[in-house]
Amino acid sequence: MKALRYENQKLSMIDVVKPDAGGEALVRVTLSGICNTDLEITRGYAGFQGTIGHEFVGVIESLPEVSEARPSGRAFIESEPSLTVGLLTPGQRVVGEINAGCGVCDLCRAGDPRHCEKRTVLGIVGRDGAHAEFLKLPLANLLPVPDEVSDERAVFTEPLAAACGILERAQITDDTSVAVIGDGKLGLLCAQVLATTGAAVTLVGKHPHKLQIAERRGIETNTVNKAGLRKREFDVVVEASGSATGFDLALDLLHPRGTLVLKSTFHGATDLNAARIVVDEISVVGSRCGRFAPALGLLKTNAVDVESLISEEVLIECC
Ligand SMILES: [Zn+2]
Ligand SMILES: [Zn+2]
Repeated sequence: MKALRYENQKLSMIDVVKPDAGGEALVRVTLSGICNTDLEITRGYAGFQGTIGHEFVGVIESLPEVSEARPSGRAFIESEPSLTVGLLTPGQRVVGEINAGCGVCDLCRAGDPRHCEKRTVLGIVGRDGAHAEFLKLPLANLLPVPDEVSDERAVFTEPLAAACGILERAQITDDTSVAVIGDGKLGLLCAQVLATTGAAVTLVGKHPHKLQIAERRGIETNTVNKAGLRKREFDVVVEASGSATGFDLALDLLHPRGTLVLKSTFHGATDLNAARIVVDEISVVGSRCGRFAPALGLLKTNAVDVESLISEEVLIECC
């Protein structure tokens, strides 16, 4: 099969052996999404070597022969009543959570491998990823895609889930004022997800055509310069730009005792102004991966625009 691999500081599309799924499910990838993390990996982030890609929608090619003892991803879909639950069978359209745990530690047994110490992460840590014809994942990681959700929308489940993950880490309700810094894919998804809570959300960015995507969904936007005038106005600021200037702006915008959510992995060191965090008693929280069920729920009800975030589609054969 063809796979886009990063090895020895070189990115190339090569023929590799189709994975032996062993005790996992084999998935034929229909679409995979390229995101900034992929680009960072090709610059050395996470020290990953192998097939890159962690955002995908696909079709189950084969199931593991012996069903796993660990809790199934379907358990989480039950927390999202709008999704119909069905048994996973070959031929079914699926998306997959990217953290694969050891299956035996307390975290894994409770059904959440995101912080399992022995986890592998699809296309990021110790596990070949999604920019390939086939991938394998534990059956527990797979969730069925509702019929209403097209492949082009379903491929956004992973980044959308990451945006939903903010709601696990910060109190955001309909009377919270939130600024999201960064108008890239992640920032646009975060702003849209947070707006579904009824919170007053302002997206801050540099690109008029990207800010317009949020405006079309009724979200207020500001240029970076304009936002700089709104010092100490916000309860929560989500930093999704990954830049040092975004980090400084986030501290400017927060009022005392506000919450700073760090959503971007900063490549390299950040000049952390610890004194400001202490003096203003800012709570700083990190946020990484989210669960897929809430994201599938949002896709199913068309609560977010993801199509506008597609800049180009390419066929894997022609790369
Ligand atoms: Zn991504
Ligand atoms: Zn574990």
